[in-house]
Amino acid sequence: MPASLNAPTRIFRVALPVPVFSLFDYLAVDNVSTCPGIRIEVPFGKANKIGVLIEIADESTVAVEKLKPIVRLVDDPPLLSATDLALLQWVSRYYHHPLGMVVSSAFPAGLRQGKAAVLPTKKYYALTESGKQANSSELKRAPRQQSLLELFQQQATALSETELSLWHSQWRITIKGLIQRQWLELATVATRTSLATAYGKPVGLLCNPDQQAAITAVGGQLGKFGVFLLDGVTGSGKTEVYMQLIAEVLAQGLQVLVLVPEITLTPQLADRFRQRFTIPIALSHSGLTDTQRQTAWLQVQQGEAAILLGTRSALFTPFKQLGLIILDEEHDASFKQQEGFRFSARDVAVMRGKLLDIPVLLGSATPSMESLYNVTQKRYQRLALPNRAGSAIPPVLQLLDIRNKRVTEGLSDALLTEIKTTLAKSEQALLFLNRRGFAPTLICHSCGWVARCQRCDANLVMHQREQRLRCHHCASEQALPRQCPACKTGELTALGLGTERIEQVLNAHFPDKTVIRLDRDSTQRKGSLEEYLEQIHAGHADIILGTQMLAKGHHFANVTLVAIIDVDSGLFSIDFHATEKLAQLVVQVSGRAGRADKPGKVIMQTRRPEHPLLTTLINEGYHRFAQTVLDERKTALLPPFSYQVLLRAYAIDENAPANFLNAVVDLLKNKTIPHTQILGPVSAPMAKRGGRYHYQLLLQSTRRQELHVLLDELMPQLEKLKTKQKVRWSLDVDPVDLY
Ligand code: ADP
Ligand code: ZN
Ligand code: ZN
Repeated sequence: MPASLNAPTRIFRVALPVPVFSLFDYLAVDNVSTCPGIRIEVPFGKANKIGVLIEIADESTVAVEKLKPIVRLVDDPPLLSATDLALLQWVSRYYHHPLGMVVSSAFPAGLRQGKAAVLPTKKYYALTESGKQANSSELKRAPRQQSLLELFQQQATALSETELSLWHSQWRITIKGLIQRQWLELATVATRTSLATAYGKPVGLLCNPDQQAAITAVGGQLGKFGVFLLDGVTGSGKTEVYMQLIAEVLAQGLQVLVLVPEITLTPQLADRFRQRFTIPIALSHSGLTDTQRQTAWLQVQQGEAAILLGTRSALFTPFKQLGLIILDEEHDASFKQQEGFRFSARDVAVMRGKLLDIPVLLGSATPSMESLYNVTQKRYQRLALPNRAGSAIPPVLQLLDIRNKRVTEGLSDALLTEIKTTLAKSEQALLFLNRRGFAPTLICHSCGWVARCQRCDANLVMHQREQRLRCHHCASEQALPRQCPACKTGELTALGLGTERIEQVLNAHFPDKTVIRLDRDSTQRKGSLEEYLEQIHAGHADIILGTQMLAKGHHFANVTLVAIIDVDSGLFSIDFHATEKLAQLVVQVSGRAGRADKPGKVIMQTRRPEHPLLTTLINEGYHRFAQTVLDERKTALLPPFSYQVLLRAYAIDENAPANFLNAVVDLLKNKTIPHTQILGPVSAPMAKRGGRYHYQLLLQSTRRQELHVLLDELMPQLEKLKTKQKVRWSLDVDPVDLY
């Protein structure tokens, strides 16, 4: 009798990228030793799919005769470690999102489709004997060659083509010169040692005592779990703290994950890191090609890259040996994914740190209410940098009351004078307005017709340069009408302000000055943002005008005046998160002023100079303001004093979403949930969007556990609701906005 008949059947339990909560069972291949975390190709429906092995089991709930054998094992060894899998499983449970979908989102596109997990190149370059001795100052006239030679000399290891391409996209031209001098040559892999160990500790700035205290606190925790909130005013030298900690971690041969909220921040941080660290830095964000992302992913997974710098999606990249997670601008809402799999990169980063037993460092000048609350609960340790580093002094904040004052196209006379004075000193002014386009409303002067989006409850925004009307909520757009479509006679007037309009006014007022506008429209072309930023840094800009793209992390040394053109527009919102966001924005924008040795000034134009939010913020500072907000939330039992889950539904049929959510409420009625409130269903703040009607149901509980048990029961039942067929719905755990 063949031995295999007696052997127990091995079952592979596989996570597949389909919106189903369960795993799928397959017959394992015999005699192959493998472990969870590898990719497997399996038959699924009429085709094959790539999944990830989660468990190897002895039995299945499905009859063994019905199980299909797998097609092939894709990897050996696995790409995901046991801790990676544990994290993904936790995330799937916490966000009630199917494990297969969560797992699949951890992979770059190519690997998701089953491509081989190999780094694309095998070619390496290394120093020749004379190259090792060469004096790099001989290359003063060719700075790029000089810096490449120094990179090789500091690394003392061969570098691969991919690593060189991370160093600079034009590396091939640079390296040619060094090869001609016979300082570099093609090398074999054997000459190569691991990057992390080949790395020498760079010299940082001399830290002030606050910075030093922060470095000592986190540095003393390496190899152990702990969450730190680096609460440092803008320009206090948080980045310097990051870099010195990174140096410590790298010196131990470990890797570092650095997350930033926005892709626009990666180039400047990458530059600062490159100046400090001579190792190649892997980048991961949506601006890269699939191949670039896959290369970065594999370099990190295989331990070739020691630093990964990226946006929230980089969080799930597997590391060979991760030693520290840094999340900069931790308050930023971009860390929360707002569609599909709605995870918070900040909260998941903390869990990742816990599973790996490593410290997590959250940094911000305007910490989120959640993190400040976690400090009071002793879950996070606060490290304060209350002063600006170096010689920079904090900017002076000032409300400019524009009631009954002359305001031309949004700019008061007083503000124009301030701008003039600033420019006269050859300093730069930065103007902030969080609305792109020319004007948010186009109205008929004679009949009152307003250009509305057909598909949304919203006005169309006028874009003058392109002569278009655009909806900023859906993709609708049309040509700018010449005359009123309703009365056919009336003159059309642009109401309100957008950055495009302010740009025009500024150009008219300051004809011999350079105005640079930074918003989503002006930076659409790839590389244009970098060009603008370079232009600003080189001093080839007098006035910088932009949307919140400007508020984040940028360091403009010569900006001494910051103006918030319309601070009032943020004061009135029905979402309780809005006050927090406005205060963060004001402080962050203000932080762009006077970052170097010249003092800065911040002017906010307002018609509500008595508004308590503004006065608390300006007279008493962000922390006093935050305390007020937290007190209010405590009284109202809002997060972080309770936990929220938002169930959203939408459909073309106006009644379907409410029917579906009402059916959900019926399901909830049978459950014992003493600490949980069911609020709604109600129509969403902007009910019609993209031609669909949006409704939502809010669950709010003072017990997180109760909410999760509830959702564990509810989610499978939702799948079976008949009313579900007619709607699209999503679940948002810990929503950061209620839209
Ligand atoms: P943050 O990240 O908190 O906004 P940065 O790290 O960008 O602050 O630092 C702001 C400026 O202060 C930078 O130009 C930086 O080089 C400088 N800086 C930081 N730490 C020190 C220090 N200890 N001594 C002198 N200058 C410093
Ligand atoms: Zn009209
Ligand atoms: Zn629209």
